Amino acid sequence: MENVTAQNKLSLLNLSFSEFELSLKEYAKNNNVPIIFDEGLAFLESIISLKQPKKILEIGTAIGYSAIRMHQVCGSEIYTIERDPIMYEHARKNINIAGFQNSIHIIFKDALEAFDDIKDLKFDMIFIDAAKAQYMKFFDIYSPLLNEKGVIVCDNMLFHGLVLDDENFLKQSRSVRGLIRKLGNFHKALLENDKFKTSIFDIGDGMSISVKK
Ligand code: SAH
Ligand code: MG
Repeated sequence: MENVTAQNKLSLLNLSFSEFELSLKEYAKNNNVPIIFDEGLAFLESIISLKQPKKILEIGTAIGYSAIRMHQVCGSEIYTIERDPIMYEHARKNINIAGFQNSIHIIFKDALEAFDDIKDLKFDMIFIDAAKAQYMKFFDIYSPLLNEKGVIVCDNMLFHGLVLDDENFLKQSRSVRGLIRKLGNFHKALLENDKFKTSIFDIGDGMSISVKK
């Protein structure tokens, strides 16, 4: 049903699904929207095909690119949170064009304030990909909504390699250094958290995967 709708909308635009996805990537590139790197996406898609999550929570929708790609792997229902009105509008439009509006629900709020909207739901996977300085808060707020054996994946964990690179760290502005320091603290906290088994990979912009014990 969903696919029929998508086909109609896409054929109105005279686009195949892969051309539509390419157009999202092009838009992101031309407008500096930081969508997930190809390599990171491949990693995420592998996790999803192994794990087959029924429900996924995403923090940081942007234009809906990663949500659309994640849904396509095995039809997961996705709740995704975005606070920026322009990004939200793009995501809504793109998810409609894809025909996934019944399975990808966008919550137009700051993720620090969206807990009540979804507090009665349980997720098999959480994908954190919003403001880097707030990762620890996102993790603390939303990890209680994770099912047994659920996984939390975080993007941009190495922040262009800077988290691990002392020499480059010193060349950065104060605000970037603050951000890197926060991400570094988040790394440490994740690795020390005994409720989760975490691994951090040098894939894309750095991805972590934390499996609930
Ligand atoms: N997941 C997307 C990219 C997300 S970019 C993809 O790969 O396709 C990060 C997005 O998070 C931005 O659109 C930004 O507006 C949003 N964001 C940052 N902090 C947020 C917060 N506290 N609450 C909700 N959205 C946030
Ligand atoms: Mg990212």
